[in-house]
Amino acid sequence: MSVLTDLIYAGSNAVAGLTEGAVNDAIAKYGEDTRIAFPDTAYFFPTIYAATGVKVTKLGDLPACVGVLKSLISNKEDLGEALNAGLATAVGAEIIEGLKWLNENPYEGEGGIGFVPDPVIRSLGVPLVTGDIPGVAVVLGSAEKPAELAAVVKDYQNKGLLTFLVGDVIDQAAAEGVKMGLDYRVVPLGHDVTAVIHVVTVAIRAALIFGAVPPGDLGQLLDYTKQRVPAFVNTFGPLNEVVVSAGAGAIALGFPVIVDVDLGENQVPGALVSVTDHAETVKTSLELRNIKIKVREIPIPVGFAAAFEGEIIRKADTHVEFWNSKNPTCELVISRDPSQVEDHKLTVVGDDIGPEGGEMALATFVEVCGAKMQADFESVIERKIHSWFNYMDGVMHTGQRNMFRIRVSKDAYAAGLRLKDFAEVLYCEIMDQFASVVDKCQVTMITDPAKVEALLAETAMPRYNARDERLDAMTDDSVDTFYSCILCQSFAPSHCCVVTPERLGLCGAVSWLDAKATKELTPAGPCQPIPKQGLIDARLGAYEEVNKAVNTATHGAIENVTLYSILEDPMTSCGCFECICGIMPEANGVVVVNREYAGMTPTGMTFGELASMTGGGVQTPGFMGHGRHFISSGKFIAAEGGLRRIVWMPKELKDDVAERVNRTAKKLYGIDNFADMICDETIATDSEGVLAFLAEKGHPALDMDAIM
Ligand code: SF4
Ligand code: ZN
Repeated sequence: MSVLTDLIYAGSNAVAGLTEGAVNDAIAKYGEDTRIAFPDTAYFFPTIYAATGVKVTKLGDLPACVGVLKSLISNKEDLGEALNAGLATAVGAEIIEGLKWLNENPYEGEGGIGFVPDPVIRSLGVPLVTGDIPGVAVVLGSAEKPAELAAVVKDYQNKGLLTFLVGDVIDQAAAEGVKMGLDYRVVPLGHDVTAVIHVVTVAIRAALIFGAVPPGDLGQLLDYTKQRVPAFVNTFGPLNEVVVSAGAGAIALGFPVIVDVDLGENQVPGALVSVTDHAETVKTSLELRNIKIKVREIPIPVGFAAAFEGEIIRKADTHVEFWNSKNPTCELVISRDPSQVEDHKLTVVGDDIGPEGGEMALATFVEVCGAKMQADFESVIERKIHSWFNYMDGVMHTGQRNMFRIRVSKDAYAAGLRLKDFAEVLYCEIMDQFASVVDKCQVTMITDPAKVEALLAETAMPRYNARDERLDAMTDDSVDTFYSCILCQSFAPSHCCVVTPERLGLCGAVSWLDAKATKELTPAGPCQPIPKQGLIDARLGAYEEVNKAVNTATHGAIENVTLYSILEDPMTSCGCFECICGIMPEANGVVVVNREYAGMTPTGMTFGELASMTGGGVQTPGFMGHGRHFISSGKFIAAEGGLRRIVWMPKELKDDVAERVNRTAKKLYGIDNFADMICDETIATDSEGVLAFLAEKGHPALDMDAIM
């Protein structure tokens, strides 16, 4: 036997033995009927479910799984067979980790997060397809030189990758000052090597959620993870047999493994590679997985990376704050005549950030010009300011327009970050990402309160109001073009969004204006125009041209799509939707649930369970993923009677959309304060409770035609 296959089998057999023992012990202690589940997932034990179709729900289900696991270990001298044994290790790890949830909060105090809930995976959809997160690194083991480990992890972080840590590397990276947490894209999983399964199941659930891979089809599953999940593994420190067999499992899923010990002739080209010089680890890993990084060289004194976007800066760490509730603020992008714009002119009007810090006024005023620039693109660029400012290490930005809050940390100030750098960031990003429409750009940062007020009153507010009026007037009836978006096809191959003025993409990130701008910026890109022609049925929103476009975009997978119905040929869902809408038959209406809500809904299903009913680019009548903003649209399930059908929403979502929902309900149906008639979890989550509340409020759905 080769050393490698030997090691893999030794590891797999060891894990098999451990798993069998753990399962027997657990059954002896708790009994076969004891329920067992990972938290917040609709996919049971995801590896077992995806690979075999078996739904593990109680301890008594596990012995059969151990049998399957053992059957994967052939002990034959053949690399392919040995990789299967690696999958057995994955199954074993899943069971061992799953058993931990017999105890409450097994990961409390562990320094890792353990299992990654479904909603988190869904939220990763868009950044992964846009390349905002270009890849996924799994770093495990124990580094001989922690500083070198930290350098590797920070490099991934700066490049925007999502990194999962397993083992001692967690504490080593933390001690070296690596910022951690999902917001920083460096996620500690757990210290036991079996915790690596928690990143494996992320890849596996991606196949189920976005790829619509049927459970039990191992071939399709492996194909999906290999083709579509850009992950790889780095191990630090000496390898033991369990690590090697786990690595074999990773290779079987299509993820190359880069080790820092010299494996000599035991290397497997493209799959198992030794890199003993840590300065080469990142480069080799990215090349092996063919991950391309867009380099952003922005000359500012702090780091600039998407990985810093979610950074929270606390009051105590804040050097200076620009906040509309204390001082005037304003953010504005406008297009100008070329003669009025001097390219790369960056100006600060008023005091720059000084040593005393504190609270200041701020206007971020961007003027651009370009032959292909359109007034409609101003707001598209303007909304990006939020992300770009957040990408600076030590800067936190929330809000937009005349209401925002920016905090600059003490560290960032000490590093030399000033307002000129803010301007530089905007200049570089606009010229890079909007190159095809912007020819010249100048940025003025104003801190003089009187001048900010003047800009607000004379220029910004009138512009904001004019844009809002234009958006209000922009309806599906008023335009002659819709847009397709197929960005999510890299994960959900047969998915296509149809984006209209009144129906944004289901991720919530692509409005009709965004799609229009995307078409202008990348003519052969993911958004293509659909002429609004060939009306088949106005009530459903069915058009021949829409069907044709979707059919082409999905390579024939989808034939007919309606824009306004949840029951007849509803739009497909990729999996990254902000909200899911499902029918509640007994209330003659629908419930709408947002991704952030973890509790139960009156359908008897959680968000994750509802969401698992659809996705992967398939049509599921009765279920529909959509953006938050769509809820208040006059076109929301218009074919079934519109938003009057909404009987239940989580409170946070209801509060967020109430004002707009009330406006639409009044305008279209003459209903006052409709949001107050919608039940939420603080009132009831059981069917009877919801029905009683609806009856008490005289909810309109109760008197409407039967929904189905
Ligand atoms: Fe994906 Fe649709 Fe959003 Fe495009 S609009 S990114 S296809 S969810
Ligand atoms: Zn998507």
